[in-house]
Amino acid sequence: MAKEDTLWDGEVPEHIIENLQRGVAPHEKRVVANLAKVSRIVKPDKTVRVYDDFVTDWRYDRSVFLPTSNGSCSLCGKKHIREICVIVDDDQPFGASKKEVGVGNECVHKHIEILTDGVEGLTGDAKKDFLKTQMAKAKDRFFKTKFQLDYPQARKYLEGVMDNQWLFHKPTIRNAKKALKMLNKKGYISRNTLTFRWFEAIDLDEEIVNTEKMVKAAWDSKKADEAYRRTEYLTIRNQRDFMASHFRKMAERQVDLGWIESSSNISSTESAIRRYGIGKLKWSAKTLYEMVIENDKRGEPIPCLPSEIKSSPSYSDLTEWEQTFVDSTEYQFRAQGGLSYKQLKLLDEMKQKVGLTA
Ligand SMILES: [Zn+2]
Repeated sequence: MAKEDTLWDGEVPEHIIENLQRGVAPHEKRVVANLAKVSRIVKPDKTVRVYDDFVTDWRYDRSVFLPTSNGSCSLCGKKHIREICVIVDDDQPFGASKKEVGVGNECVHKHIEILTDGVEGLTGDAKKDFLKTQMAKAKDRFFKTKFQLDYPQARKYLEGVMDNQWLFHKPTIRNAKKALKMLNKKGYISRNTLTFRWFEAIDLDEEIVNTEKMVKAAWDSKKADEAYRRTEYLTIRNQRDFMASHFRKMAERQVDLGWIESSSNISSTESAIRRYGIGKLKWSAKTLYEMVIENDKRGEPIPCLPSEIKSSPSYSDLTEWEQTFVDSTEYQFRAQGGLSYKQLKLLDEMKQKVGLTA
């Protein structure tokens, strides 16, 4: 393998290829032909090198996992592959179009030398294991990058949950803890896990904004509370007191009737009304208040999508995860009133799955 050897100028003629293929096993003829087209097969004296010689120009360089299975092997021609090994001819000039070519794992294993530490050539199982490890690393890099592109806000949301645990339900905190652990360890959340299914149902942007608002509201309420002690607007205060007590009466009645959860934020909503008035209720206090009023007006609880799904005879067709999801959203709905857009969307899909028309 002399550095002065060059590629064939133009397309390699058929008779040259046939010559190179002489004596080669039938299933490897293709490999010889394909490699000849990208190799420096011409010596300075214009004679042509043999396959066993020019194949040694090539060394395995790296493994790459492609975004789609659009790849093909430049040696055997195998199509639709995602796992590609890049092989390199170091003596082709920098930037040359044939200096690097993509090859399948199998062909590298069979035909291309792998040097570790630049000296020792791997063989047999050691070679196979090495390629496997390199591809696993390439896949990891791929999924890591893809996850960062798909969910740039993941870390911000998860850390927000951990930093403000008082704002979230226990299952959310548990899931966030697991997800964050995976993210720290692997750089992404594996797709075929329950943690990912939980994570995927979250509208990250919306939730991050909500969290920030709730933290700010809590902060403001602390300040408002301090300011309130200094000023006394008795009339307004009396009005608010009345509305707050009225709300509590309605809510307690609805708990007794089984329309809403006993663990609803009745007390915190009541004190929010007392403190700020109805017009300034936020988040779960607002949705709970609105639900209680609406229930009272109707004389019955407003329809609850998760409960509807649970009452379907085909409810047991849902997966364990889906049933857990229905359960927890039913609880959330009856405790707070509101469900997020993403939750409603998933519930709609499950509703169709159990045969109820959406
Ligand atoms: Zn191949």
